[in-house]
Amino acid sequence: AQKPKFSTASENRSAFRLKPLPFSAASYAFSLLATSPCHDTTALIDAATGQRLMYSEFIEKTKTLSASLQTLVGLSKGDTAFVLSPNLTHVPILYFSLLSLGVVISPANPNSTESEIHRQIKLSKSTIAFASSTTCHKLPALRYGTILIDSPQFESMTTSSSSELGCVEVSQSDVAAILYSSGTTGQVKGVMLTHRNLIAVVASCYAQRQERTRRTVLLYTTPFFHAYGFFFSVKSVALSETGVVMERFDLRKMLRAVEEYRVTHVALTPPVVVAMTKGDLADGYDLTSLEEVSCGGAPLGRDLIAAFTAKFPPAVVMQGYALTESTGAAFRQASPEESLRWGSVGRLMANCEAKIVDPDTGVALPTFKHGELWIKGPNIMKGYVSDPKATSATLVSDGWLRTGDLCYFDDEGFLYVVDRLKELIKYKGYQVPPAELEQLLQSHPEILDAAVIPYPDEEAGQVPMAFVVRHSQCSLDEGKVMDFIAKQVAPYKKIRRVAFVSFIPKSAAGKILRKELRSIAIQGTSSK
Ligand code: AMP
Repeated sequence: AQKPKFSTASENRSAFRLKPLPFSAASYAFSLLATSPCHDTTALIDAATGQRLMYSEFIEKTKTLSASLQTLVGLSKGDTAFVLSPNLTHVPILYFSLLSLGVVISPANPNSTESEIHRQIKLSKSTIAFASSTTCHKLPALRYGTILIDSPQFESMTTSSSSELGCVEVSQSDVAAILYSSGTTGQVKGVMLTHRNLIAVVASCYAQRQERTRRTVLLYTTPFFHAYGFFFSVKSVALSETGVVMERFDLRKMLRAVEEYRVTHVALTPPVVVAMTKGDLADGYDLTSLEEVSCGGAPLGRDLIAAFTAKFPPAVVMQGYALTESTGAAFRQASPEESLRWGSVGRLMANCEAKIVDPDTGVALPTFKHGELWIKGPNIMKGYVSDPKATSATLVSDGWLRTGDLCYFDDEGFLYVVDRLKELIKYKGYQVPPAELEQLLQSHPEILDAAVIPYPDEEAGQVPMAFVVRHSQCSLDEGKVMDFIAKQVAPYKKIRRVAFVSFIPKSAAGKILRKELRSIAIQGTSSK
């Protein structure tokens, strides 16, 4: 006779445990995916080869990879996996497997130098690395070694596994990822994002999804290691979108991919919007499939948006604002009507709170008054890993996140970003922490003191500029300063302007007066 399915309480419990409730961000996304008929829908397209992966295959590969990583490699909940890869279609499969296993994902910029990578690995306490054949040489030895995600070994781990995936219990408060950001001050820190953080931002996109006649085809222009690309890779699955993956950003290749795969949604940085609008680069491409262009990182002018939308109908430009510490989501323009709010970055996502405060007193300010933006909600990070001091300086009273950005609200809740109060420099959307470059400069035997500030640049948004106090009678010139730094940092962190000064202006407490340096820099160029 057949054994009844759940004969004892313990069997009953273990059967339940084999099918855990959708607590991990991966199972949450899969549960939403299951609500739409998606099996024979394309999940991912490799833009270079045209190779497609169906959702049925994506789900299967993710499950098989989880089982392989669990049984062959021995990965388990609590391990941290360092991911160092350009955008490849393998990356979302890997992310979903690691999320399902409760393994913390720590993705980093593949352009980072070895010393930057070593610092990040130490910070995240990574036990295994996943890299591409182009990036693996930068990695140190780790407990479980390094797995190449563009290798036949990885492919076979996604297609066959010797055993089934064992029970894993992931709760929403578990850390899902450690991403890197310098926050409002100092060196790079590890931002701990929980499964709940990811679920919250995905849920908000799901709630705001629009009824559409065509399936969304999204082109990934942002890297998967950045908060925005990271959360989009989970969100796209939840909303059963098709993702087109480009290994690295190239404007011509992007235009060709939009035409070839009839891309409907793309995220662009302001300099790319400028290049497409003003130049003739986009001429000759059929971009009529484009419905939505999301844009963040810096404000876009009214005339520019009007020229872009006139040139590429029916595309609308939707602006947004977020931080790594808010899981890559916070404010966005959510409809074509909202996109006409020139200069604004939209309204706050659901279930969050925001206020503008006097940065010195923390007192809330009324609408139209400029002050520091504070945000609170389920998208806000758990804290900086192993750094309680930086965490308590950023996550203040009652869980409010200090963004370090100077902003204001209008009386309908639309946010406007005015300036950055924090030290951060953003070069083409990448974070450059001035403190890191200052420390390197100060290690030079001929440099007495140094400070680094953002200098406005049309193409990159901002470039790092160094103010240097050099020893008297030394031979140090601009080129030597730039070379000294370039050898030690990722290319996007290079110093691109240098000024020699006799002293660095500082406050009584020894803080660099960056505002003063910024006005000296601007005056210097305007008087040239
Ligand atoms: P990240 O953590 O790398 O995403 O950088 C977040 C920072 O980028 C914010 O704190 C802002 O300083 C800046 N940022 C993001 N979106 C915008 C925007 N729409 N306008 C101006 N600055 C922005």
